[in-house]
Amino acid sequence: MATKYEQRLESLVNATIEEAIRVAEIPAPTFKEQERARYVEQRFAEIGGWDSLNRDRKGNVVAIRRGDPKRGRVLVAAHLDTVFPDSEVTIRRERGKLLGPSIGDNSLSVATVLAVGQALQDAAPRGIGDVLLAANVGEEGRGDLNGIRALCKNYAGQFDRVLAVEGLALDRVQLGAVGSLRYEIGVTTEGGHSWGAYGRPNAIQLLAGAIAALKPLLPKAGVEPKTTMNVGVIRGGRSVNTIAPEAVCEIDLRSDDPNSLATLDVAMKRTVRDAVPSDEGALTIRRIGRRPAGSIDRNNPLIGAVLRARRDSGLGAAQFNSGSTDANHATGLGIPATCVGVTTGGEAHTPREWIRTAPIKQGVPYVGRAVVNAARLPRI
Ligand SMILES: [Zn+2]
Repeated sequence: MATKYEQRLESLVNATIEEAIRVAEIPAPTFKEQERARYVEQRFAEIGGWDSLNRDRKGNVVAIRRGDPKRGRVLVAAHLDTVFPDSEVTIRRERGKLLGPSIGDNSLSVATVLAVGQALQDAAPRGIGDVLLAANVGEEGRGDLNGIRALCKNYAGQFDRVLAVEGLALDRVQLGAVGSLRYEIGVTTEGGHSWGAYGRPNAIQLLAGAIAALKPLLPKAGVEPKTTMNVGVIRGGRSVNTIAPEAVCEIDLRSDDPNSLATLDVAMKRTVRDAVPSDEGALTIRRIGRRPAGSIDRNNPLIGAVLRARRDSGLGAAQFNSGSTDANHATGLGIPATCVGVTTGGEAHTPREWIRTAPIKQGVPYVGRAVVNAARLPRI
């Protein structure tokens, strides 16, 4: 028979879908999450009953409910930020679907964490340790996990395990943390008039040459361990009739395997250096992100807690995967951590992002059960 807590979670499913839409319609690009953070803080305040509720300087919102001091303490983190610019967002409804930027990644998760908070306060399940519910900043792109980093630092010693929530990850349970390295690569030259100073080195030409030289290093798709390289951003130049004095690109390297990542890292830097002769342009390679690779054992009690929650929510077998989520930072610190999801969908990080609404009926109770199961584990 469903407990009062589980019944409450089920009763909150429709409200969670509406909440996800409200959250998604508040723009929250990485480093500009304040408005969305304020909204979430206000929603936690309306739920009430917290032993502590606060929003830190970065914009992380944390609501804490203290529990049995002998039981496990769990930090639940749903990131607030999106990869989209600070412009108006409208979420569209179609049959069985919601469509629009950040609806799945990660507005639905933020709404789900609010629902879990509501159910915890209303039903007060017994025999659980402290629950720290966080809506955090800085998961995407240049944020480089700065929100979860701050949480792990500021609340160090106050939690034993971490559950990250990613809206689209219902079928997956994260065991591996994909390692990544991110760089900003810049070339600067003297520049000058495209006619009058013709012959001087051009920063765009030099950078483009370096990017082209990386092509043979691109790891093949479908090969294990999965390793990837992506030039995701390029910018530079002044005008069509100016010899470009600067050009910059941003590049992301990832792998399931720390050695493959390290090898690619060395090769990438060497290739770029060789492609930009120092007498032609000044090259800078600046690291802008690093997420450690790592993993949690399939037999870790936290994974057991999540799998019981799946079973009790009527979900099928999990696909164990490697991810690049807020769980990575905790994994890198040696804290048991994984990532759970709320529904399925696709096209994340594009304006065509969409989610299925039907699975949310199981997804919200699933996340709620996973939180309580994790908080029933022994304290570490
Ligand atoms: Zn996400």
